[in-house]
Amino acid sequence: MVVRKIQDVSFYLTRCARRSVGLTVRPDGNVYVRVPLWLPERTVRELIQKKIPWIKERQKALEQQVIFPVAGPVLKEIRSKAIHRFGLLAAPWEAKFREQYGVYPLKWTVRDMTSRWGSCSMKTRRITLNLKLFHKPDECVEYVIVHELCHLIHPDHGKGFYALLEKELPDWKARRKKLKM
Ligand SMILES: [Zn+2]
Repeated sequence: MVVRKIQDVSFYLTRCARRSVGLTVRPDGNVYVRVPLWLPERTVRELIQKKIPWIKERQKALEQQVIFPVAGPVLKEIRSKAIHRFGLLAAPWEAKFREQYGVYPLKWTVRDMTSRWGSCSMKTRRITLNLKLFHKPDECVEYVIVHELCHLIHPDHGKGFYALLEKELPDWKARRKKLKM
């Protein structure tokens, strides 16, 4: 099996004794192509080229499914991607809260949780973000980040908490609504 690339789509190519071309997008988004032994490389590329819009659509649909493998390399990859992306989104907010309010989390954690998008422990000053946020748009992830940062100042969901959230993220309600969809 060899890896080939057309545009920005990589695929695993296997040549075997078969008559037709088989193209599969696996649940992890990887593309597998099986072609007859005799089929010229150029024809293979042309066939895949035509399928690229379909492949991308499949990959996008798979990415949006909030299904997590319990373990394995795929989960590991999603985790590291999530940590990277959440880190980029959180950095400016962390700096802002540190500068304006003198508070900052001691640690950020990403974990697969079932009932909450995020949590903030006042005792350990640790903010945990749900791994499932990986499948949500940036604006929603940002909402959870700011929500949890506000908890460093207001532990409960009292008036003070919402006043701060409203000040920092005036459109938080729209973002939360989007997160629930
Ligand atoms: Zn909260």
